[in-house]
Amino acid sequence: MSGEIYMPFPGRRAVHEVSVAIVGAGVAGIATAVKLKAADVNDITIFERSAGVGGTWYDNTYPGAEVDVNSFLYSFSFQDHDWARSHATQPELLDYIEATVDRFDLRRHLRLSTQVDTIAWEPSRGQYRVSLGGGNEQWFHVVISCVGLLNNPNYPTWPNLDDFDGPKFHTSRWEHNHDLTGKRVAIVGTGSTAAQIVPAIAPVVGQLTVFQREPGWVLPKDERDFSNAERQRFERRPVLRKHERYKEFRLFTNSLGIFANDSEKQREMTALAHGYIESQFSDPHLRAAVTPSYPLGCKRIVLSSTFYPALNRPNVTLVPHAVVRATRDGLVASDGVERQADVLILATGFKAQEYLASVQVTGMQGRKLHEVWQKSPRALIGTTVPGFPNFFMLYGPNTNGGGSIIFQLERQAELVVRQVTRLRRSGARYIDTRKAVYERYNVWLAEQMTKYFDAASPAFCHNYYFSQDGRNVTQWPRSALYFHLMTRFLPMIGLSSHR
Ligand SMILES: Cc1cc2nc3c(=O)[nH]c(=O)nc-3n(C[C@H](O)[C@H](O)[C@H](O)COP(=O)(O)OP(=O)(O)OC[C@H]3O[C@@H](n4cnc5c(N)ncnc54)[C@H](O)[C@@H]3O)c2cc1C
Repeated sequence: MSGEIYMPFPGRRAVHEVSVAIVGAGVAGIATAVKLKAADVNDITIFERSAGVGGTWYDNTYPGAEVDVNSFLYSFSFQDHDWARSHATQPELLDYIEATVDRFDLRRHLRLSTQVDTIAWEPSRGQYRVSLGGGNEQWFHVVISCVGLLNNPNYPTWPNLDDFDGPKFHTSRWEHNHDLTGKRVAIVGTGSTAAQIVPAIAPVVGQLTVFQREPGWVLPKDERDFSNAERQRFERRPVLRKHERYKEFRLFTNSLGIFANDSEKQREMTALAHGYIESQFSDPHLRAAVTPSYPLGCKRIVLSSTFYPALNRPNVTLVPHAVVRATRDGLVASDGVERQADVLILATGFKAQEYLASVQVTGMQGRKLHEVWQKSPRALIGTTVPGFPNFFMLYGPNTNGGGSIIFQLERQAELVVRQVTRLRRSGARYIDTRKAVYERYNVWLAEQMTKYFDAASPAFCHNYYFSQDGRNVTQWPRSALYFHLMTRFLPMIGLSSHR
């Protein structure tokens, strides 16, 4: 957790110019660009399909949107900030990302409103052809995918959904032109996003119906605004910010045991969550409805101190059944009852398992990455795949978890910068992944998953972790520090350079 920008080989002069395309301007793309520039790589183009930077924090503008981990932890290691709140809200996060872009002079590298459609390796040039919309294309030696994990909305396929008469939208595409005041609103889903929206809109709407397929385990987040005195203290003594960051980092590292079934940590947290339910609900039906029957750790824990109180409001009704179809006037759940609504909010999550859904990547011998993966994506440390030279991914397969993803994204960015620096210094044409190391790594990963992450299973609960062949393709089963060590040392044997 260093405080300054990481320099891979300080003091050494680079020789060969390498052009780099970054796809995506969320926190991953921004961190990668900052670190590339710090390593004196300046031929960088950042393609972003949206009209602005920020990724998740550009897309998710729903009421109540904020981060789930402490702001000091959910920050770049190289950009301090005077956070207004223990868990930053979306507008503050977006401002923070914009400020980072300005501080590191990244605007001139940005190509906004530009979707990358395909990336194809051309062996004769030792470069990728990057195709953009409208027949435009550009060539790059290195392509770094920073397209994120949670940005392709998972739209439900209920019968008659199109017949619903009123406005309906996904949480990540919030339609702000609809005034919800006094309206009958239905929200489908009770995951982390719904848990933020429900308390934010419940005081405004007339009636709020919350459809819950399966309850989540909920723990209080203790989110709050910092007082002026606290902010001044952080300002006067920046070391306190670092202390907070470290404290939160340790907290997450120490809680990792929850993902192993029957572990002491899992039992301890389960008792905490049960106690929280007891303390929040007096109605036995509601209490039963919000109590999960699957192991804690099976899916993302909902962190919120305001969700349960909102469910107790007289104008909020929890329907503990999955939606089965829509009608012109509302939704029908598995209990067969139709509940009417004026507005439908789809808090139905994202297609997380569909890695790189927005881009087609072609590597050596014309092989397509999605065909190689066959809907079961894997990579070396979530970053590289054999046969796809000079192609890197941040937030790739099995990298999700460990508290703040920004810590891990920065470590992946550093891995990539080391390889780009290696290309520049050696004059090699490309870097590729050693198949044997890649295979061995994925066997190891599966073993770790069985040992440390067996609470998450499609047999226990619905979650977004699993591919169709039953592999957990999204989660990192160990600590963020373990991930750090892997990104630091495994490439030494796993990645080879070629002339
Ligand atoms: C509501 C919500 C809350 C979250 N809260 C937390 C949290 O508390 N803690 C945590 O650690 N994580 C959280 N996450 C996960 C979050 O996604 C990451 O924290 C982080 O923002 C990921 O950054 P990223 O840059 O990897 O991806 P993203 O932020 O998803 O950015 C990817 C970018 O790539 C662009 N893009 C995609 N395809 C293309 C293409 N083909 N061409 C051009 N551009 C493209 C997208 O438009 C997007 O801007 C949350 C996610 C959501 C949705």
